[in-house]
Amino acid sequence: MTKVGILGAGLSGLTLANYLKRDFEILERGPIYGGLCRSYSKDGFIFDLGGHILYSRDSGIMNQFKDLLNGNVLSHKCGDYIWYDKATLIPYPFEQSLYKLPKTEIVDCVKDFLFNENANKSVSNMKEWVYKVFGRSIAEKYLLRYNEKVWKVPIDLMSIEWVQRVPQPTADDILRSAIGLKTIGGFERKQFYYPLFGGIQTLVDKLAEPVKNRVICEFTISSIKKRGETWFVSNGKVERPYGRLVSTISIIELVKLLDDVPTSVTNACSKLQYNSVIIAMIGFNGKTKRGTTALYFPQKDVPFHRLCFPRSFSANCVPQGKGSVLAEISFNSANNNWSAQSDEEIISKVVDSLDKIDLVNPNSVILSHVEKLQYGYVVYDLSYRKNISVVRDYLQEKGINILGRFGEFEYLNMDQCFQRGVKCAQEINNP
Ligand SMILES: Cc1cc2nc3c(=O)[nH]c(=O)nc-3n(C[C@H](O)[C@H](O)[C@H](O)COP(=O)(O)OP(=O)(O)OC[C@H]3O[C@@H](n4cnc5c(N)ncnc54)[C@H](O)[C@@H]3O)c2cc1C
Repeated sequence: MTKVGILGAGLSGLTLANYLKRDFEILERGPIYGGLCRSYSKDGFIFDLGGHILYSRDSGIMNQFKDLLNGNVLSHKCGDYIWYDKATLIPYPFEQSLYKLPKTEIVDCVKDFLFNENANKSVSNMKEWVYKVFGRSIAEKYLLRYNEKVWKVPIDLMSIEWVQRVPQPTADDILRSAIGLKTIGGFERKQFYYPLFGGIQTLVDKLAEPVKNRVICEFTISSIKKRGETWFVSNGKVERPYGRLVSTISIIELVKLLDDVPTSVTNACSKLQYNSVIIAMIGFNGKTKRGTTALYFPQKDVPFHRLCFPRSFSANCVPQGKGSVLAEISFNSANNNWSAQSDEEIISKVVDSLDKIDLVNPNSVILSHVEKLQYGYVVYDLSYRKNISVVRDYLQEKGINILGRFGEFEYLNMDQCFQRGVKCAQEINNP
């Protein structure tokens, strides 16, 4: 029995399927493939499940994405801003646009960066790292506030593992940024791509085309057992047999589906933290008042941390004469109540907030929709590395491959999921 069972038909599972040279089958809980890369379409509006743009440090992967989209792709310069206050929008990233701040605040930021009392300290958590790399003012005016709002955990309880990929500004960058000169500082999303038609789902549609007859949708995996050399994956009604398993479903859920898992593993698994995300989608008459790709909100009294404007990704995401906005609200996994609010309550809070900041007039709203994503962001708390290693080692010992954002439980974007899907296929093809 060499058939490969792929658990989950998101971008990772579909990429793997495209490159496998073995017999395989994909089991998917949802009514359709795509996972986090699905798009919601109604009345000519298209919303992704959270603002999704294509970018990568690896131009090879970007070219593969563009080839897949076969001309159905637009190239954009990032037009994201930080909502500092109603009168002050700061081009993203904050530290490269200090010239937009009031003059006394620019002085504070530059002074604290150049004469940073933390510059030579060793760091053991993200908060200390932010103070060390950016200085007190940049840290306190924006970075700590925004990160605390997104991650929903105190920043001194977060590890530096993840932030180390964030580009670190030089003194030259900060001085240029203070007077409004172009900085050399790196920024991954400076340029990005997006499908001209169909939203981000177009990408997974393309990946699904050659393999979709081997995707079994509406198959919610409820148990996984091994008898002899064969894995049996069940939804409580039907059992599917496989010689090999690759799981792209959340590692936390995967462990719950297995028998006789040692307590050390279930304990480690229960300590993994993640964020759930609520996506509120709003369509309205007229255009958005600010022509940006996304706005970031560090303010505690604003419910969302980020707004995205689908029209700025592709004009085909909104009907003529209409506008739309997509709000992202995050919750820590320890908050068991995160999904308790009704869709109406969520939309009402978001619309109220959009009205207060004068972005959308409530009377112009003609469409609203809410999606609740249980698994949105992996949280790198201080025990992340220890806990994830215990769980991964156990699964490796069992011979189950893990793949993807929550499969591997790592902060992976679409390009990395694609890259790892191809690599996983190569490893299975050429053992
Ligand atoms: C709000 C948000 C914004 C993002 N923005 C970007 C961006 O701008 N650019 C970027 O590159 N990346 C972005 N990402 C990341 C991107 O969405 C992911 O990297 C990618 O979609 C992960 O794909 P995956 O296949 O690994 O996981 P998923 O898409 O989560 O796929 C897992 C699949 O497993 C299925 N499944 C789960 N449990 C079961 C079960 N018990 N039985 C059967 N099936 C099951 C699910 O239904 C799902 O289809 C964003 C993510 C979020 C949450």
